Amino acid sequence: MPEDNSTIDDVALIDAPRSRSWRCSDCNVSVSFAADRAPIQPDGWVKKSNKWLCLRCQRERVMDRAASGTGADGWASRREALMEFELLRTPDESDVVIAKRANCSTGHVRKARQTLITAGKLPKSKKSKAA
Ligand SMILES: [Zn+2]
Repeated sequence: MPEDNSTIDDVALIDAPRSRSWRCSDCNVSVSFAADRAPIQPDGWVKKSNKWLCLRCQRERVMDRAASGTGADGWASRREALMEFELLRTPDESDVVIAKRANCSTGHVRKARQTLITAGKLPKSKKSKAA
């Protein structure tokens, strides 16, 4: 019977999944990839105490922490925090890319990168052009 065959196929699919998926423990967003093209983890996601956290939630957390920390201008510190987070996460990205993500100027990013390098939080960039 055709129905029986399809049932068997379904079971086989569960035994050997064709895709891998991840779910963010914070916002419940999920991503999936074909098994043969699945990354070790989705781009930018991290695993914290056995729970996955998507990139967006990580950014939100860094920014919320920054905004609630000091009595300083909330928006500015959120942006600073996001910029620092992106610099530390992807130090090889150009200032232009980081600036786009953090919605600020490249000059701002360059300065923040220098500060992080001076503080020893970032390795000296391989790509940095000699001034
Ligand atoms: Zn999330």
